[in-house]
Amino acid sequence: MSTFAFFVLIWLALTAALLAPQARVLRALWREPVFARPVVIIESDDWGPGPASDALMLRRIAEQLADICDREGRPALMTLGVVLGKPDGAAILADDCQRYHRRLLDEDAYAPIVEAMRAGCNKGVFSVQRHGLEHFWPASLLGRARDDLELRRWLADPDARSERLPSALQSRWVDSTVLPSSALPDAEIEAAVREEGEVFERIFGERPKVAVPNTFVWSAAVERAWAADGVRCVVSCGRQYEGRSADGGLMPPTRELFNAQHGFGDIRYLVRDVYFEPVRGHRAEQVWQGVAERTALGRPALIETHRESFIAAQEPAEQALNELVSALRGVVRRHPSVCFLSPAALVDTFGVQYSPLLHHGAALRLTFFLRRLLASAVLSRALKLSGLRFLIPLLIRVLTTVESAQDTRRVGC
Ligand SMILES: [Zn+2]
Repeated sequence: MSTFAFFVLIWLALTAALLAPQARVLRALWREPVFARPVVIIESDDWGPGPASDALMLRRIAEQLADICDREGRPALMTLGVVLGKPDGAAILADDCQRYHRRLLDEDAYAPIVEAMRAGCNKGVFSVQRHGLEHFWPASLLGRARDDLELRRWLADPDARSERLPSALQSRWVDSTVLPSSALPDAEIEAAVREEGEVFERIFGERPKVAVPNTFVWSAAVERAWAADGVRCVVSCGRQYEGRSADGGLMPPTRELFNAQHGFGDIRYLVRDVYFEPVRGHRAEQVWQGVAERTALGRPALIETHRESFIAAQEPAEQALNELVSALRGVVRRHPSVCFLSPAALVDTFGVQYSPLLHHGAALRLTFFLRRLLASAVLSRALKLSGLRFLIPLLIRVLTTVESAQDTRRVGC
């Protein structure tokens, strides 16, 4: 054996040893579909019971989105992660926080909000998603409020929003009465999931197919209950969290998730990892950068925002809407082949053999796979130590040169 061959063998063995612990990630990155066109979805959470001004803002957003279309004429789409109820604070306090009382989105007081949501869905600019009957676990709220003056003040304010609750309480699917949080009984989870599915169906005419776990905290029991209740898509930030630590922060993630990966039943995961919160200073440029980066990796760009940005005081809310419009118009200008799809439609493409929205050729898929390796934080150390961080860009350059020499077929979606 030559000295060169000997060193190559040593290097291969070292590289294999470094990458072996990440075999699951490597497999998931290879299996992840490669999108042939930019896909953009605005994912907006926390909409639910609120003042009539929320309905007005929803209508204004819908109007603006309807004017921004992809080349097939589909309008820009914003999902609404809907919270179906809020606490009846006065009734809870009258009961000295012993029993939970709620107000539901289908009460007359919130009819303008529901009508604005439905009108947007009919126009194809909104798509409603499951985001909880409340943005907290009612028993946790009651348990904490019994000894917490601040929480009692929050309950006493009829205009209080769930956004102002302590972060740990905003995780619906754990018992955070005492921190660190503990798991909820399976039977209670199943009953709560069924109940919110029924309320959702009563208001919007069908069971929600897409679930967005509040603060991305959920358990296997929750996901099993969602699957049994008709959910077939779970949107997360690419990580699953299952609890809150002693200081109220998120416990370390228990799983890393990838687009199209299978969950319980028919569930597939989608990763939402572009953050756009105008009220926190985010601007259209960040959306453009996020979309360009996801597109270069053959991934859809799911852009996370919240009601919070659009229900702020008049001036910041106005600025948030302008920024959203500017972001989307800029996306269409920069990516004329962009597709505006709903998460449910996106998940449908995974089940279609040879979907025109996806790349299927091995060489192209390999190029995107290599780019994803370079972009993976989990693999970063192994790539650096093995030297692959320097070799992979060369490989990508060779593959890209070969691909550009071939005819690229026109794709549609
Ligand atoms: Zn939320």
